Order: sequence, then C-alpha cells, then structure tokens
Amino acid sequence: MLKDIRSPFQYKKIPIDQKDHSKKRTKAKDAKGTLGRMWSYLAEKKGMLTLVMIMVVVSAVFGLLGPIVIGRAIDHFIVGRTASGLFPILLGLLGIYVIQSLSLWFQNYWMINISQSTVFRMRSELFTHLHELPIPFFDKQRHGELMSRVTNDIENVSSTLNTSVIQILSSVITFVGTISVMLYMSPLLTLITLIIVPIMAVSIKWITNRTGKLFKEQQKNLGELNGYIEESISGAKVIKAYSREEQVTAEFLEKNDSLKASGFWAQTISGFIPKVMNTLNNLSFTIIAAIGGWFALKGWITIGSIVVFAEYSRQFTRPLNDLANQFNTMLSAIAGAERVFDVLDEKEEREDEKNALHQPIQTGAIEFRHVSFGYEEGSQTLKHLSFTVPAGQSIAFVGPTGAGKTTVTNLLARFYEPDEGAILIDGIDIKNMTRSSLRKHMGFVLQDSFLFQGTIRENIRYGRLDATDQEVEEAAKNANAHSFIERLPKGYDTVLTQNGAGISQGQKQLISIARAVLADPVLLILDEATSNIDTVTEVKIQQALARLMEGRTSVMIAHRLNTIQRADQIVVLKDGEMIERGSHAELLRQKGFYSNLYESQFKRA
Ligand code: ADP
Repeated sequence: MLKDIRSPFQYKKIPIDQKDHSKKRTKAKDAKGTLGRMWSYLAEKKGMLTLVMIMVVVSAVFGLLGPIVIGRAIDHFIVGRTASGLFPILLGLLGIYVIQSLSLWFQNYWMINISQSTVFRMRSELFTHLHELPIPFFDKQRHGELMSRVTNDIENVSSTLNTSVIQILSSVITFVGTISVMLYMSPLLTLITLIIVPIMAVSIKWITNRTGKLFKEQQKNLGELNGYIEESISGAKVIKAYSREEQVTAEFLEKNDSLKASGFWAQTISGFIPKVMNTLNNLSFTIIAAIGGWFALKGWITIGSIVVFAEYSRQFTRPLNDLANQFNTMLSAIAGAERVFDVLDEKEEREDEKNALHQPIQTGAIEFRHVSFGYEEGSQTLKHLSFTVPAGQSIAFVGPTGAGKTTVTNLLARFYEPDEGAILIDGIDIKNMTRSSLRKHMGFVLQDSFLFQGTIRENIRYGRLDATDQEVEEAAKNANAHSFIERLPKGYDTVLTQNGAGISQGQKQLISIARAVLADPVLLILDEATSNIDTVTEVKIQQALARLMEGRTSVMIAHRLNTIQRADQIVVLKDGEMIERGSHAELLRQKGFYSNLYESQFKRA
C-alpha cells in the first residue's frame, strides 16, 4: 500500500560503488565497435533486412540491364538500320524500369521500417537506462546535452540507416556488376576506364579523413549548444534577476559560432566530393568517347557498346561517389551512435546483494554506527558519525552549509554507501536490504519539491498511484493544501506547468507534503525549504509537517525554529563531525554552537 514518493529528479548524488559493465560492453570509442553494436540492433530485423537486400540486388541488376538493352537497340536499329522488333524491345525496357522502380520503392519501405524500429529500441533503451543511472551522472552532465543525445543523435542514426544501408549495398553491387559487364564487353576499354579509380580513391580518402573529425566536432558542438540553451531557458529567471542577458547571449554566440565553424568546414569539405567526382566522371567519359570511338573505327567494338560503356562509366563512378557521400553521413551517425552508446555504457546503480532482504521497513528505527564517508577518495565528508533514532522519534540536523547534513540522508537512502561503519534500520544493516524495499516506506519532502506537468490531483497522487480522488483530497486536507486548491478556478484539476510554475513556493511545498501524506511512509526524510514564505503559509506548512511527522521516524535537515525545537533530538554537524547532540533545551544549556546559532539566527525569527 505504501509507496516511495521520491522523484528520481530530486536527488543530486549517486553511489560510488557501482556494477562494472565495461567488460560486457564493446568500447564505443571506435567506429568498428560502434558499427558492430549497431549491427546487433539491426540483426533483430534479419528477415526484413534480407528482403531489402534482395530488392537491392534486383534494382541493381535491372539498373545494369537498362543500358545493355539500349546498346543492343542502337546496334540493331540505328547501326543495322531496321525497325522490326522495336516494340518488344521498348516494352522490355519499360518492364525493366518498372521492376527497378518497384524494387527501389520496396527496399525503401522496408528499410525505413527497420530503421524506425531500430531507433525506437535505442531510444527506449536510452531512456530506461537514463533512469537506472545514479544521480551524480546527471550532476556531471548538462541536461540539454543529454537531451541532444536522446533526440538529435538518435535522429541522426535513424536518417542514416534510412539511406546509407541501401546506398552502400546497392553501390557495391552496382560497382561489381558494372565492372563485370564492362570486362565482358571490352577488357581493354575497361582497364582504361579504371585508371580513374585510384585517383578517385585517393581524393575520397583525403576528403573523408578531414571530414570525419569535423562531423564529430559538429555533433559535439551541437550537443553543447543544446545544453546551453536548455540551461538558459530553465535559468531564465536567474539570468534576468542578475541582468546577465548580455553575458549569456555572448556565451551562446560563442558556442553558436563554434557550431557554425565546425558545421561549415564539415559541410564544405564533404561538399567537394561530388564536385571532384563529377570532374573525374567527365574525364572518364571523354576518355571512353575518344578511345571507344577509335576502337569502333577499327571495328573492335560496336557503337552500342560504346553507349553502354559511356553509361556504365557514369554508373560505376556513381556508386563510388555515393559511397564517399554515405561515408560522411555514416561517420556523423557513428559519432552520434557512439554518444548514445556512451550513455548506455554508464554504470547503473549497483545491484542488490544476492541474499538481500525484501522486507520493507517496519518501524524505521535508525542507527548510524561509526559511519565515515567521502564523495571523493581521500576526502571525508562524514567522520565516525554515530547516533540512534528510536522508532517513531525525530532527529534534526543543523549546522553550517557543507557540514554533511544532506549526505546523511543520501547514505540513509543508499544513494551512496558508507566507506566505514554501518547504517541499521529496524536493526538490520541496510546493506542487506534490497534498495527498493529500503526505499519503499521511506518518504521524502525536499526543499525543491519537483512537480510534474499535470493536474494538482495527479501530482499528489504521485505519492500513491492507486489512491482514490477522495484519498487525494483527504491527504490535501491533512497537508493544509485543500483550501488553497479549492480556491483555484479549476481546483484539483488545475494544470501545473513544469516544476509547478504558476503556484507559489509555499503552495508547492504544501502539495509535496500532501504527496507524502498520501504515501504514508514509515520513515520520513525532510529537507526543509529555506526560502521565504509568507507567514500564513509558513504556519500551514509547520502544522502540516507536524501532523505528517506524528508517529513516524523522521530525519530532518531543519532550518526553522519550530521544527527544530520540536525534534526529539538535535545533532549539530560541523565538517562532517557531530559536535553537539541533545534536545533543544539541553543544547541551549550547553551554550555551545547550537545555542550561539539559536541566539544569532533563530531568536530573531
Ligand atoms: P549540507 O547538506 O550540510 O549543506 P552536504 O551533505 O550537501 O552538506 O555536503 C557535504 C560536503 O560534501 C560538502 O563539502 C560538499 O561540497 C560535498 N559534496 C556534496 N555532494 C557532493 C558530490 N556529489 N560530490 C562531491 N562532493 C560533494
């Protein structure tokens, strides 16, 4: 019945000890490996891929047949000066082109089907994996940059699959087929025509060597730019508040400029390819016309064959041209796929121990036994921290910023594991519980309560998905949120924009408290908001929290006088060490850090 009300977006930290998948996965940093992985996706659609290949062969073969028939017709009708049998040949030609067109249509249809299914799977895996990742990953990454991977990079892979696979296959078949027919017709003329190939190969290599890096850079710059745009939009208020519009625009322009530069060079240099190919094509055409004409005069070859050759010379350089073009697109898609695989290779939250208990928290009694912990090696954020919280009681952590208060809650929820010592809940080391059973009856009310796009009702129901409308309203009443919700024109059906813009900070908190009330957790973790809230709402929040905490074990990062005073015990943390511990009255009597803090900060409040 009880649900974890934690939103995956609310946490900034992750475990350090995670499952190592690196051995299982191919490194994505090389094109070969990435292609291999792409293949494993495509291989799922082997049947359809085979159909595509058959259609590619059909279209390529029929494409080769066309010029042969034309050549024959020229020799027969023009050189032989007779019109008999023209109709069936024309009909045959028509048939060839119809079949070629149909096979082109089908290969395209099936290939798009394959590519859409492939990117559908990649996108789904990426999204699912994103939510298996520990939170520090999100901390390190710009959100917009990540978005860019899920959208742009995957789109890039999709469009390349749509065209490149067919192009590459058909180019290879056409190239081999053309050369074979040419060799059959005139080996000498074929060899002369082929002189052009090494020149083409060298120029293509020269160009693609340069563009590969540039495309990668372009994709990276695009990601960075997207990240920056996302950040500037979500931080629009702060930007305005600090009048940083100019600076932000300047930084944007700089990034936009880098994207333009890499895009410009990538496109320009790759744009040379068709031009170079065209020139070489014309050269080859001229050679065939000149030498072929001479051969025809000598009677070594028919006029029709020269026409076939001329047509084929274009056909055999076209696949090379296409291959070169596709190579670039492929490189850019590989760069995109690599970036997607990079995310997929990020390590997930460590798996639960084999014998981990599935029993959810019963009473929530907490014990920290000499817990030490550091986010980075060598640093110690918490030092030998020991305390106990009997079931149903509350503990409040106070202390300067950076003292380690949030870290305590992160360890409690097992977003991180302690380096030394143990954390027990209900007398069981939490290491021996599955994460889901540990978090199942743990409730969180955090400073920045994340609200999703949706109605108020949906946002409260996030605490327990099977709650009835009545239960939702009951929870809202308990959280002192009901009256303000009722006053909204659409009441519980008011649609909140993302992250709750449109209602006040205090109202957001009341909704998040209602969410927690509905979830009815055994153990409550509370990170009080520090922001200024009007006194009426403040009182409402205090009342609601008091009601919520009743009978539950609660761990608070407390900022408000009322909440702190009410706590059964208060722990003062400083630089990760417990420097004082006791009830409000006891600590005041000690005249230490807490009483100073109280005097200076809270007495005025
Ligand atoms: P508090 O909640 O008391 O303000 P925190 O528990 O958030 O303090 O942080 C304690 C210390 O740990 C701080 O010095 C902070 O810089 C550091 N810290 C917090 N989160 C991380 C993290 N994800 N990676 C590295 N250091 C961190």
